[in-house]
Amino acid sequence: MLTNLKPQPADKILQLMQMFKDDPRDDKIDLGVGVYKDASGNTPVMRAIKAAEKQLWEAETTKAYTGLAGDPAYADAMVALVLGTSVERDQVAAAATPGGTGAIRQGLELIRMAAPDATIWLSNPTWPNHPSIIKYLGIPMQEYRYFDNETGGVDFDGMLEDLGKAKAGDIVLLHGCCHNPTGANLTLPQWAEVIALMQDMGLTPFVDIAYQGFGDGLEDDAAGVRMVASEMPETIIAASCSKNFGIYRERTGILMAVGQDKALHKVTQANLAFLNRQNYSFPPDHGARLVSMILTDDALRADWQAELEEVRLGMLDLRKNLASELQRLSGSDRFGFLGQHRGMFSRLGATPEQVETLRRDHGIYMIGDSRMNIAGLNAKTVPILADAIIKSGI
Ligand code: PMP
Repeated sequence: MLTNLKPQPADKILQLMQMFKDDPRDDKIDLGVGVYKDASGNTPVMRAIKAAEKQLWEAETTKAYTGLAGDPAYADAMVALVLGTSVERDQVAAAATPGGTGAIRQGLELIRMAAPDATIWLSNPTWPNHPSIIKYLGIPMQEYRYFDNETGGVDFDGMLEDLGKAKAGDIVLLHGCCHNPTGANLTLPQWAEVIALMQDMGLTPFVDIAYQGFGDGLEDDAAGVRMVASEMPETIIAASCSKNFGIYRERTGILMAVGQDKALHKVTQANLAFLNRQNYSFPPDHGARLVSMILTDDALRADWQAELEEVRLGMLDLRKNLASELQRLSGSDRFGFLGQHRGMFSRLGATPEQVETLRRDHGIYMIGDSRMNIAGLNAKTVPILADAIIKSGI
């Protein structure tokens, strides 16, 4: 049987991580991997997570199963965090999932059950796991233009034109904030235009929000998804706690299905629980429990928000410093988009050859499409990167 298996393509990011490890240069810089790093290059456990873990260790009396959709307190806390007061709680069916990836996978399975003829429209580019899982599930997909390599911003006209080719019932996958890999995001008026188009054409939004709090702040980062959820008849949302709570390996995410028609809530909720049951039964609980403890305890929440804000502002500073250093060295504003982008990533707009030059000649590692993890920088390496970018002819 196993002889029938075909080799799987190597994961490019993991390959790059290995190359970085094997590189003997002391001054090498890793802008590849997609986790937050502080100025010393560590991915720390957040203070509130440590405190909640301590409390949990003392108070937890059982490890018995939770519900199939996870702990209801986690769902309540996450619905409030992501959706605020944009919809009523009984409009949202929600199930805990293993990470944001689990939520995406379950959301796609829900779509396949409920809309077997739908095509999923993806931004070009998008997080590579999106098309990978969609393809694996055998769901048809199409791309819409999203990133303008010339300006470093969103190609909004191209996006609307391409989405105009969708058919009624199709699904539009949107990044809630901090677009991965580009860092270029829709403005609120642009969200409103996309909503109007989806309403006119009978499309359903699927919003992936994996970096709430990493861009413009917890509330602002959720403004787009909240507008979508309150104005569209139905919205599917996959949210991840990996980045904003720093609990990557705990696998903490949530799938939400928002409907204006409250009569559908019960059957939708039952289907989310059914999908969990088929795929892994009960979702992981440890990370979810820490998240709900933090979100419902004033002191823990305040400390978490303060630390998240430090993380966000630190990345924003690095962006601004990189943009201004590049302005100084290039004598032009052509890298100004780096200061406009939000979140952990920016697409530099370099060719694969230039990316290779950065790696070979300067020991600077970024993904082949020139996605940089801004959190991989620090005050010392910003000018080094800027200099290397100019020297590589970018
Ligand atoms: N969506 C996007 C756009 C992401 O970048 C990520 C993480 N790389 C995820 C979802 C899911 O992350 P996780 O499964 O680790 O929660």
